[in-house]
Amino acid sequence: MLNPIPTERFWRRPLDAARVRTTHGQVRILADRCKGCGFCVEYCPRDFLEMAPEFNRKGYHAPRVVDADGCVACNLCEMICPEFAIFALEIDGPAPREVPS
Ligand code: SF4
Ligand code: SF4
Repeated sequence: MLNPIPTERFWRRPLDAARVRTTHGQVRILADRCKGCGFCVEYCPRDFLEMAPEFNRKGYHAPRVVDADGCVACNLCEMICPEFAIFALEIDGPAPREVPS
């Protein structure tokens, strides 16, 4: 099923907007591998992550999910993490809601 792209934030509507499907992701965090660098939090395009207040086994703050419906499975966090401590899986379901601008 095709999911419509929210276009309220754009000054023009892409010509193929009705055909493009936004993926929906579910993030997995291996907290004890994390070294708390914060790259994933800083660069997630959806602002979907934050640093958790609790410590992992190494004594670092690992990321945690802010909004269960925010991830678009772009895998940027997976690519940027130096410790291979985070990844996203694409799942079936409705597209995530748009992040307010
Ligand atoms: S897969 Fe993309 S949208 Fe999802 S948490 Fe990682 S960087 Fe953010
Ligand atoms: S990029 Fe990796 S090591 Fe850095 S805070 Fe995120 S999960 Fe932890």
